[in-house]
Amino acid sequence: MGAITLSNSLALGVDLGGTKILGLIVDQQGKIHGEQSLPTPIGSADFLLDALSTVVKKLTQQCAEEKLGTILGLGVGAPGPLNPKDGLIYTMPNLPGMENYPLAKELTQRTGLETRLENDANAALLGEVYFGAAKGHSDAVMLTLGTGVGGAVFAAGQMVHGDRGSAGELGHITVEWDSPRRCGCGRLGCLETVASGTAVSAILKESTLQGESGRDFLDLLVAKDPGANKILDRVVQGLSRACSCFINTLNPKSIVIGGGFGSALFEYLHRPLSEALKKQCFEIAYRDLQIHPAKLGNLAGAMGAASPFLSIA
Ligand SMILES: [Zn+2]
Repeated sequence: MGAITLSNSLALGVDLGGTKILGLIVDQQGKIHGEQSLPTPIGSADFLLDALSTVVKKLTQQCAEEKLGTILGLGVGAPGPLNPKDGLIYTMPNLPGMENYPLAKELTQRTGLETRLENDANAALLGEVYFGAAKGHSDAVMLTLGTGVGGAVFAAGQMVHGDRGSAGELGHITVEWDSPRRCGCGRLGCLETVASGTAVSAILKESTLQGESGRDFLDLLVAKDPGANKILDRVVQGLSRACSCFINTLNPKSIVIGGGFGSALFEYLHRPLSEALKKQCFEIAYRDLQIHPAKLGNLAGAMGAASPFLSIA
């Protein structure tokens, strides 16, 4: 019938991380056919573009040599702030020369592939929606608890970008008004100041408990330490205050919790968070809500960046 065999349609997904560039060849079932990585260069936009092009060229070469199929496009997940609509990086931390940089256009010129740019947190949620914990859900929200708190919103089957591309900054919802802590964004009492791994280790250091890292905190939870449980209550309170806002606003089918710290903490926060949300959310919005740990780990960003080219209309 001339129909395209699904396994022949491929896309390249690249996750531009702080230390590593990871590139994948992904098919429509989420199967990974190839992987390339390079350390993320520092110094200039040209070095970065060279490294990204090298990763992409190695992947396209592999596709051709092994006759894997047709590459439909290239998706790049990068740290914000950026605008996915026009493929523009507004600024990039530690990399001068990237102000208002047309990364998607530059990569298309170098590689010949249609290129889409996506914020890294959004790319991770796309990965989970197409291939992971929220597979098939048309309404899902992701929170990534790590050094900071990343967020992303997928609503009515689409990524929500907002006017300037900065939608989904859920880590900066204000959750503490009394004795608030200062956030990296300059404001007070953001979710990131209570629920990130960094915040929890700071709270731990200020307490009378033994320990100073997120890992120490998890060890104390395993030991059922009452002081650590009190800190967990504070994390859950912050998360429930933020989550109830967007659950009542968006009525998502699922909330996906990822990030190194979030994934390790999931088994401890799942039950108390569910109980708090049941009390705080509009009943219909909460009724069928699923709370899942992220499934794709470090591959989510690259897989998600590739996914827009693989979605079947
Ligand atoms: Zn903030």
